Amino acid sequence: MSDDSFDVIVAGAGPAGSACAYALAREGKNVLLLERGDSAGAKNVSGGRLYTYALELLEPGMYLRAPLQRRIVREQVMLVEGRRATTLDAADPAWGEGVPQSHSVVRASLDEWFASEAEGAGAVFASGMRVDGLIEENGRIVGIRVGEDEMRAGVVVAADGVNSLLAQQAGLFPDVEARAVGVGVKETIELPDSVINARFGVSNEEGVARVAIGCTEGISGGGFLYTNKGSLSLGIVFNPEQAAANGRQIQEIFQDFKEQPGIAALIDGGTSVEYGAHLVPEIGYHGIPKRLHREGMLVIGDAAQFGINTGLVIRGMDLAIVSGLAAARAILKEGTPTGPAYMAELEELALLPTMRAYAEFHGIFGISRIFREYPALANQALGFLFNVDGKVPPPMLKKLLSVVKENVTFRQLAADAWKGYRSV
Ligand SMILES: Cc1cc2nc3c(=O)[nH]c(=O)nc-3n(C[C@H](O)[C@H](O)[C@H](O)COP(=O)(O)OP(=O)(O)OC[C@H]3O[C@@H](n4cnc5c(N)ncnc54)[C@H](O)[C@@H]3O)c2cc1C
Repeated sequence: MSDDSFDVIVAGAGPAGSACAYALAREGKNVLLLERGDSAGAKNVSGGRLYTYALELLEPGMYLRAPLQRRIVREQVMLVEGRRATTLDAADPAWGEGVPQSHSVVRASLDEWFASEAEGAGAVFASGMRVDGLIEENGRIVGIRVGEDEMRAGVVVAADGVNSLLAQQAGLFPDVEARAVGVGVKETIELPDSVINARFGVSNEEGVARVAIGCTEGISGGGFLYTNKGSLSLGIVFNPEQAAANGRQIQEIFQDFKEQPGIAALIDGGTSVEYGAHLVPEIGYHGIPKRLHREGMLVIGDAAQFGINTGLVIRGMDLAIVSGLAAARAILKEGTPTGPAYMAELEELALLPTMRAYAEFHGIFGISRIFREYPALANQALGFLFNVDGKVPPPMLKKLLSVVKENVTFRQLAADAWKGYRSV
């Protein structure tokens, strides 16, 4: 049995763990970064859009050397009703020019790069090392176990993702509840850049982010599509409880999404090179456990349930990086930090205030008609407005009202508007 000792042990080399290890190692801390996968990123699944301000916070200019894919210059929202779809397309070639905004990323290369940055700054990085448990002495976490080996540290940072074994072992929160997470599936589809550029109306460095609503058979959730260099990331995120009650396999619903004409045309001829499924924190601020620290231990990233999903914007990687930086700053200030130093950094770096600002947003997903009736309504209304068949059209207002009535009652509309208003 070995008995190694470090200032800090970080468990998990996702964006949270690598950011934390990097920020500590560059200040001369003796850091061990452990990853259970064969390489950093080997086990990770993400939609693939990173809000790069987080890297800028970690170190000015860092985002310029990260393996980013395409700068997002087109934001699209697709409202799906079966084979029909209405797509809003907001484009601005200046988005993100010279400043960090958002870029598509491929997790395998991002995570590998990030862990190597931590290593380059002086951290010891070991992959293929699954942390199996914590060592506790006199009520304090003093290290971790990997198989038979024990490793000790002044602080253990749990960066082991959404279903954090370590935070659960530390008694900080029970098993993840189904209502608090989404299940995401994602496929990477290779296509030549020239094809991607032509289909999406962008140049080589520019990218598109699309969210889709109405493609989940009425289940709370939605689809996403990001353009990378030489590939597309296509996926769907669901509420697992509703998906289980729906009876159809997630893969079947995902297949329907891929066959939706508006999506099928974009991925046509592509080669599927990767498929994965993963949990994602869904309920935002109200899902954060009451305590994110124990004596000798801090919890960061998805393990702390840091996530924001507004339906249009999905944020997790940026919050993971910011929380990793917050933990590092607390450790650098206080040595072995008590929780308040970490919590203060989360405030200072605007992570908790931002999550509070979106705290009620999850209520939007309680409006079940967003996932079926309203996309249908939009498609039917626009279908009517664009239709020319040589016949005398019905009075426009009357027809539009009848389209509304076919999908929702005015009572439901008023109730949903009120709920939506209260959520934002
Ligand atoms: C389908 C999907 C789409 C998403 N889309 C986006 C998006 O577009 N933009 C965005 O910002 N976020 C997105 N997210 C969320 C984002 O992926 C997470 O918020 C982010 O990865 C959190 O980073 P993390 O470092 O905290 O955790 P993770 O990325 O989960 O990393 C945890 C790491 O810890 C390792 N690990 C786990 N247990 C152990 C252990 N016992 N010992 C050692 N290592 C361990 C894992 O292998 C992993 O490498 C998406 C998530 C999903 C599922």
